[in-house]
Amino acid sequence: MLPNLYLSADEKAELAAFTDSLERFCDAEIEPHYAAWEKAGLVDRELFRKMGEHGYLCADVPEQYGGVGASVHFSFAVIEVLSCRGYGGFVGGLQVHTDIVPPYLLHCGTEAQREYWLPRMVSGDAVAAIGMTEPGAGSDLKAIRTTAIRDGDGYVINGSKIFISNGQHCDLLVLAAKTDPAAGAKGVSLFLVDTRAAGFARGKNLDKVGQHAGDTSELFFDNLRVPADALLGGVEGQGFVQMMRELPRERLIIGVQAVYGAQGALDVALKYVQERQAFGHAIGQFQNTRFTLAQCATEVATSEAFLNACIAAYQQGLLTPEAVSALKLQTTEMLGRVADACLQLFGGYGYMTEYPISRFWTDARVLRIYGGTSEIMKELVARSILGR
Ligand SMILES: Cc1cc2nc3c(=O)[nH]c(=O)nc-3n(C[C@H](O)[C@H](O)[C@H](O)COP(=O)(O)OP(=O)(O)OC[C@H]3O[C@@H](n4cnc5c(N)ncnc54)[C@H](O)[C@@H]3O)c2cc1C
Repeated sequence: MLPNLYLSADEKAELAAFTDSLERFCDAEIEPHYAAWEKAGLVDRELFRKMGEHGYLCADVPEQYGGVGASVHFSFAVIEVLSCRGYGGFVGGLQVHTDIVPPYLLHCGTEAQREYWLPRMVSGDAVAAIGMTEPGAGSDLKAIRTTAIRDGDGYVINGSKIFISNGQHCDLLVLAAKTDPAAGAKGVSLFLVDTRAAGFARGKNLDKVGQHAGDTSELFFDNLRVPADALLGGVEGQGFVQMMRELPRERLIIGVQAVYGAQGALDVALKYVQERQAFGHAIGQFQNTRFTLAQCATEVATSEAFLNACIAAYQQGLLTPEAVSALKLQTTEMLGRVADACLQLFGGYGYMTEYPISRFWTDARVLRIYGGTSEIMKELVARSILGR
């Protein structure tokens, strides 16, 4: 509804060319296969390599690590386009690979860790995942029980993770484990686990309510031995600090997914209401339909304005944890409302999987849960305004 006021005319033109080519890539390489991937429960592994070849992965990674060093807008544009097209399941895993894991390496990793993993991630040769959640610890991350105990020239890891996006495809797992199980949050460290290591096992691809094309798995570590240089940044006990530092980007990208998922739902509804007839009129002529669509468009536009302000703050290093928590809360709750209202406009057809609106609706639900639940976002915002 409003142009992005934070971008120059040149940046807008470059981004438009980038997204045009991505749209063509989606038409050729994703759309013809997406229904089959939804049924299979995961995308074809080759899709990551193809996206890498075209420069669509980790676009803001600097050139020295194999990227193109573009602004974050290019990386976010990939999530924008795919979310708008209704590929929510794939986006759930893609954003972990392309927006969540690279900053851990760039900001917290050693030079050797960056040089090894980032070029592989940019090309799509290595798919990345992040393993924080465990069966007994989700919102309360400091309660994780996976341990990494120092043993000679490495660490021995035991435990398990659950709900891990890209769990089936991942070659790199950024793993949260306790190097000092008695020290609470201060005992948490992050490891860069090469998933070919002995002692690493993937559980089955979990059967979800939505986001079917994204693989989500349990992972098991049975005396998994990693070298000492797999410790992120080479310092023990920094895991919690590192996670808190990088969570804003995770929540920001979920905001992108939410806003453009809602825009996509609105787009398919706008088309449908002009075609479907009832009582001698297109249903788009009923006042209720017009008001519903106006309400949805207003919700998307106001969320997008907040998102753009948060992206601009992020680029300047000024995005606060409370602002991005408010963004995640606002945009993901908004997506739920918009997807639901748009589905209603389809009547019974909206409940049929054959109609894309049904996928927008089922894919939307989990955004209020992953990356920190809406309740945890409210806690974080409340803490910042109440001072405790
Ligand atoms: C499809 C999918 C993909 C995911 N991908 C990943 C991934 O790649 N990596 C990863 O590590 N994790 C991933 N997760 C896990 C996700 O981040 C967690 O599910 C989420 O953080 C919530 O944790 P939980 O499921 O243990 O719920 P719980 O923490 O048990 O919460 C249960 C309920 O209690 C509420 N609650 C908890 N604490 C409080 C509180 N203090 N105040 C008020 N209410 C509270 C919650 O809001 C929720 O409503 C994924 C989950 C899903 C479903």
